[in-house]
Amino acid sequence: KLSSFIMNNLLTILTVIGVVGGAVTGIIIRSSTPGSWTKRDVMYLAFPGELFLRMLKALIIPLLMSSVIHAIGSLDLSLSKKIAIRSILYYATTTICAVILGIILVVTIKPGVGGIAVDERTKQADEKVPRHVLTQDTMLDLIRNLFPPNLVQACVAQSQTHLIEPLNATERQMPKESWKFKERFEDTTNVLGLVTFSIVFGIALGKLGVKGKILLDFFESMSEAMMIITSWVIWISPIGVYFLVVAKMMEIKSFGELVGRLGLYFMTVLLGLFLHGFGTLSVIFFVAVRRLPFKVIGQLSQVLITAFGTASSSATMPITIQTMDKMGLDPRVTRFVIPIGATINMDGTALYEAVAAIFIAQLKNIEMSFGKTVAVCVTATAASIGAAGIPQAGLVTMVMVLDTVGLPSEEVINIIAVDWLLDRFRTTINVMCDCLGARLVDILSIGELGGVTPTDRLNAEPT
Ligand code: ASP
Repeated sequence: KLSSFIMNNLLTILTVIGVVGGAVTGIIIRSSTPGSWTKRDVMYLAFPGELFLRMLKALIIPLLMSSVIHAIGSLDLSLSKKIAIRSILYYATTTICAVILGIILVVTIKPGVGGIAVDERTKQADEKVPRHVLTQDTMLDLIRNLFPPNLVQACVAQSQTHLIEPLNATERQMPKESWKFKERFEDTTNVLGLVTFSIVFGIALGKLGVKGKILLDFFESMSEAMMIITSWVIWISPIGVYFLVVAKMMEIKSFGELVGRLGLYFMTVLLGLFLHGFGTLSVIFFVAVRRLPFKVIGQLSQVLITAFGTASSSATMPITIQTMDKMGLDPRVTRFVIPIGATINMDGTALYEAVAAIFIAQLKNIEMSFGKTVAVCVTATAASIGAAGIPQAGLVTMVMVLDTVGLPSEEVINIIAVDWLLDRFRTTINVMCDCLGARLVDILSIGELGGVTPTDRLNAEPT
């Protein structure tokens, strides 16, 4: 029995060993050779992990475009509309619940009240965080990204928040509203733009009927080939994740942050993520489809560990799609819910944004009125939608939530020390929420998709 369990879950077990082994190795190297590791050494150490990430990223564009075009092209229009509406309702409900849960926790636990800010003014904050970001700019960027002017550019860059950059000291004196701004491009794939294009293109191919078939067939074989490559890359994940984690452990300044106020903040976010992932999402799942999601979550272990190891929803996406296919979900649903979800549906990030902003406000003794709290709800949701699926993207969009509470962007340094680790946990919840959404929409759409999906044949419980 045990040996068959090990064989069936070999990859997952190896990946867990990768994460835990990486952490242990990192700690051993740190304590045996204190202070002797330069940035360059760490880069060499991370190299196998870097190769793994590069492979995953290489899969994203061809896998995404071919499978979305094929899936949507073989779906009729009224059905894609229904799937779209269901998914968006799911994204919205779960994100709002996450933010509210976060706020309730941080207001009850009060991790920042009466505390002095962690006063370790590192340079890091300046490098990472734009000087001033407005909520409406982030929202406009999101819409801009839906309509990439150039597909080639969309493969390498996305519009990311307008920076209002005072050019000189005199301009800096002027009111913020009159500062000049400049569009900045983040060098990450504009997943959302590519998905919109692929959906529209798929619909057009479907409309072409017989004439469109040749291209649909082309994209079908392309997406199948990409899935085969994905299954190869997945086998590298234990090694890749191991080296990513070892290198990360070497970069951390010290673990001392995990105690005290920052530790309490850390635990508040962690508790929120846990309650949301296993409590709120289960309730939503149950209300929508009258069953509990734990079996589904059990099947997601590989995806969740990869999300933890890479700290990136986008990089995890090829593995997410592969796993959902293996679980028997309808590809026409997963091709919609997963890529869009990976970009805009980030419950973990939303919860973290709300907790972090209020935590900093507590540190700074800022009164949180009801109106301000509602504003935090809104901006935290927006910040999670606007964050790209890459490591620590949430830290950057955090600036606009801070702005609502009346705090300057520099204040993120209060939480930077533990962000690398929280990022991993919130990414895991982000990805889990997308997967549960795909399953939920899959179940709700079974009738319309043409009968019973393979998952239901697998899961059919005798009644
Ligand atoms: N790293 C997260 C993700 O990829 C985004 C964030 O919260 O920073 O889902």
